[in-house]
Amino acid sequence: MMNRRDSVGVKVGEIQIGGNAPVIVQSMTNTDTADVEGTVRQVMDLAKAGSELVRITVNNEESAQAIPRIREELDKKGCSAPLIGDFHFNGHKLLDKYPDCAEALAKYRINPGNVGRGSKRDPQFAQMIEFACRYEKPVRIGVNWGSLDQSVLARLLDENARLSEPKPLSDVMREAVITSALESAERAVLLGLPKNRIVLSCKMSGVQELIAVYRALAERCDYALHLGLTEAGMGSKGIVASTAALAVLLQQGIGDTIRISLTPEPGADRTHEVIVAQEILQTMGIRSFTPMVISCPGCGRTTSDYFQKLAQQIQSHLRHKMPEWRKKYSGVEDMHVAVMGCVVNGPGESKNANIGISLPGTGEQPVAPVFEDGVKTVTLKGDHIAEEFQELVERYVIS
Ligand code: SF4
Repeated sequence: MMNRRDSVGVKVGEIQIGGNAPVIVQSMTNTDTADVEGTVRQVMDLAKAGSELVRITVNNEESAQAIPRIREELDKKGCSAPLIGDFHFNGHKLLDKYPDCAEALAKYRINPGNVGRGSKRDPQFAQMIEFACRYEKPVRIGVNWGSLDQSVLARLLDENARLSEPKPLSDVMREAVITSALESAERAVLLGLPKNRIVLSCKMSGVQELIAVYRALAERCDYALHLGLTEAGMGSKGIVASTAALAVLLQQGIGDTIRISLTPEPGADRTHEVIVAQEILQTMGIRSFTPMVISCPGCGRTTSDYFQKLAQQIQSHLRHKMPEWRKKYSGVEDMHVAVMGCVVNGPGESKNANIGISLPGTGEQPVAPVFEDGVKTVTLKGDHIAEEFQELVERYVIS
């Protein structure tokens, strides 16, 4: 296992970020927060998919009023996922006017670029910290490249211009992002917020910039770090860019909680970003969430899409069952299930998995040997191979 960077642990409700806790998966709703029913439904979906913390936009009075009702509904339905309020511009006013909202949230996200530490905005930042102290909540000081505190950037540009050998503009900009986070954290501590209630993030939209900024940030502080490539984009581009950036940092032990910010396809299931986050952590061997399905890409030896369908069916079934299985059967999330297209690599991969099946390829006997713990236990044939294999997987789990 890789060594994790030492960081100060921060409790968000019952979940700990940093301080040697497992890397936490989080996500964010995209409903109108004032729509209590819709937001509760989405928080529950995200939590069920594995989001351990859920962030919610709190951008106006209606959303601030909705927060305690959302919390209450979630509690009634048995969903304990801590809620994080995402505040920009007017968070200080909303927390002041709606104490029930301040209380119901488990953490506040503050963006110093628009709540502000610039001279005019410093009182607003101070007010947000004061609320965090009063209600004993942690905060994330979340710097975002797209809304960087312009007063910090202007100051660093000015200092750079006075150097005999000014640094490249890109270096100054990265430094401005880091400085905004570190100076804001320093100010929060001076205002009375303990270090174990501060998480930092410096989100960038470029992979190399994100890696460079987090490496420097990780060296210069021991705050717990929230990782995420902001505005990662749509579809495979968003997944690849997020994975490329986060994998490099996680491999170096940097990162205590992650969020994958994918632009959803219209109407797409919001839980996709949670699954991607889990898969990054699981494929890197950092955490396990769901049994991993190993399947081959298929080739000319597979004459139909039968095996792809079976692989997909097994993966969906395992995900669906995990909330129940996790409570009953310890270690089930570490399982490997192989669904292979033919005898070329099928038996080998199936033997290495906990349970695996090698489906018949072109010209092979219409039979599918099943292996459990490296030993062939049964050969399936006929029209119900998929159903029978799913039953065998279930039996393996509960045995
Ligand atoms: Fe093709 Fe068989 Fe290899 Fe799958 S296991 S990719 S079907 S040769």
